[in-house]
Amino acid sequence: LESEGLQTRIFKIIVIGDSNVGKTCLSYRFCGGKFLKNPEATIGVDFRERTLQLDGESIKLQIWDTAGQERFRKSMVEHYYRNVHAIIFVYDVTNLSSFESLPEWIEECGRHCVPPMVPRILVGNKCDLRGSREVPASRAQRLADSYNFPLFETSAKDPSEKEHVDAIFLTLAYKLK
Ligand code: GDP
Ligand code: MG
Repeated sequence: LESEGLQTRIFKIIVIGDSNVGKTCLSYRFCGGKFLKNPEATIGVDFRERTLQLDGESIKLQIWDTAGQERFRKSMVEHYYRNVHAIIFVYDVTNLSSFESLPEWIEECGRHCVPPMVPRILVGNKCDLRGSREVPASRAQRLADSYNFPLFETSAKDPSEKEHVDAIFLTLAYKLK
């Protein structure tokens, strides 16, 4: 009986970045398989989860999502950043200011995350909006290299990027297991 004695390990992944970059859509795409057409502005903290079978091991990724526009209230900060296993920093490739906010977000995580040095990746979202790009991939790559984070560019909206979104989360899952 394969399921007997099979323990599911749970990993908490937080998604961080400015408001409107597509954090909710990305986590929804990964956990629900669909593109969320009308994401409501996330109020407070919310999480979605998806269980994966990796090399016969059962792994549950809990993707925590939050409102980005307001810097968190103190009580929320602690809760959100506690016992984190990995962090996904998201910017919007069509919004330069969301990219320029990244160092601040990365620094804030360094201050609050417990533990602070978990696997981290950078995701440039909304690549489907080809004509409106404001952040060249080369510039994003330089920032990613300076922090030693892997960089992925994708789209939560484009159905042909669905597997790529999965692959991004899978990359993290393999690092965690
Ligand atoms: P959040 O505030 O970071 O959680 O961002 P949301 O997930 O709520 O998305 C903000 C807006 O961007 C919504 O109108 C989404 O429909 C839109 N959006 C999210 N991801 C994409 C994407 O990959 N491409 C395009 N074109 N729009 C997206
Ligand atoms: Mg959101």
